[in-house]
Amino acid sequence: MDGRRSERKVVGSRAPLRLMTWIAMVMAATCSRPALDYHREFTVTDLQMARGFDWVRDSVDIFRLYAEVGTGPATRLQAVGDEITGDIVPRIREVIGRGISGEPVHVFLLEDTSAMKRLIGWAGTGIATSTFVLHILPGDRPRLGVHEFMHVATAREFGELRGYGSWVVNEGVAVFASGRWHGQDLDALTKSLRDSGDGLALRMLLTEGRSHPEAVTYPQAGSFVGFLHRRFGTDTLAALLKLQYASSEPQFEKVLGMDLEALGKEWGDAVAAADTLRIR
Ligand SMILES: [Zn+2]
Repeated sequence: MDGRRSERKVVGSRAPLRLMTWIAMVMAATCSRPALDYHREFTVTDLQMARGFDWVRDSVDIFRLYAEVGTGPATRLQAVGDEITGDIVPRIREVIGRGISGEPVHVFLLEDTSAMKRLIGWAGTGIATSTFVLHILPGDRPRLGVHEFMHVATAREFGELRGYGSWVVNEGVAVFASGRWHGQDLDALTKSLRDSGDGLALRMLLTEGRSHPEAVTYPQAGSFVGFLHRRFGTDTLAALLKLQYASSEPQFEKVLGMDLEALGKEWGDAVAAADTLRIR
């Protein structure tokens, strides 16, 4: 999360107190994430051999699961494996047309953020590369969710990111695949953010989204990718992502035949029709 705020094109002015409180709560809960290049910072071997970590291991399909001996996640490896193969990979296939295949994916499950901090020196809810996932799985979290695994899939399918537009789309795909953002409907939340003055017009979302708090950017990115998926379908979304990940410039017009303004207008109309009563 980055504290810089730049001038924004906003819609509306006053936030309902409940929504503002909710945004503040999520902002407090989402950890700041240093700009690490995970691929180069850690290797799977570093994590497997990390001092002070004794891993219980399990395996399902191409997924290698690890949890610290004596922790909650170590008792849940089978359930995690079932979730990955039964829910997560099928959901990824629904969104981008294919699941995760090829080389093993190493999935390290940590009980809490302090364990993650011991392992890599800082803590967030999860990180992903094309070869591994590091994930917090506290006792009160019933499921892993698809988010980090979608990052693995897109890294394998579409390669490393170039530029801000790709970063926003990359997070948008992961958030959309999850279906919700911290339990909230994506379109309804985006509408509420717009009503509260935190709405980002599409061009601004794509070019500056990264400089806004996650609680503002992520749900809007997810809503936008969800719109693309509904409007154009899986194959076209995948074709767009393939071009977009390889470029720092927005590639929408080439694939969709619509410029950002027209696309943003359609997305905005879809968001405007969302029911904010669905915000809990
Ligand atoms: Zn993400």
